[in-house]
Amino acid sequence: MLKRYEEFLKTVDERLNKYFEEQCEYIKCKEGCSACCEIGEYPFSRLELEYLLSGYSQLSVQKKLKIRNEIIRLKRTKPKMHKCPFLIDKKCSVYKYRGLVCRIHGLAWYDETENRVRLPYCTNTGLNYAKVFDRKTGEVFLQNPIKERLRIDTILDSEEAQKYNLERGEIRPLLKWF
Ligand code: SF4
Repeated sequence: MLKRYEEFLKTVDERLNKYFEEQCEYIKCKEGCSACCEIGEYPFSRLELEYLLSGYSQLSVQKKLKIRNEIIRLKRTKPKMHKCPFLIDKKCSVYKYRGLVCRIHGLAWYDETENRVRLPYCTNTGLNYAKVFDRKTGEVFLQNPIKERLRIDTILDSEEAQKYNLERGEIRPLLKWF
């Protein structure tokens, strides 16, 4: 199943890369910026979690220990929003194996059901799309928002995903898997 998921991910990444290129005038993502991994809940499906853990299993003993200890600490303190335990020294330790929520983050997309543009978290910190967002009124002046529904359930339940015969399983905040 993970092999098929990996194949499916290639098609998703191709599409997301195209979006990031098309929207490049609003995007501030660059190496060393980990704003989107510093605060969140990080919803992961079971399938994505298994893939993430396949990456984790290849890490050095020291990195594994760091991640494990951070998960234990977070489980104890139970914050709703927190830094991702897989983020080490501002870098994703399992980058190739990261979840869909990590791949999508940074893009704005048009939510048809709510008739509004959904912005990434970092807009509020002056990063992506900040120049087309009026913080006082909440208005977004974006001519060409992405029309695809960039949610992990929508992506994993799509017709495209069905071609790969994937079983995504339940979706939970990352910490709830441990
Ligand atoms: S898995 Fe990696 S990319 Fe995803 S939130 Fe954690 S550190 Fe960030």
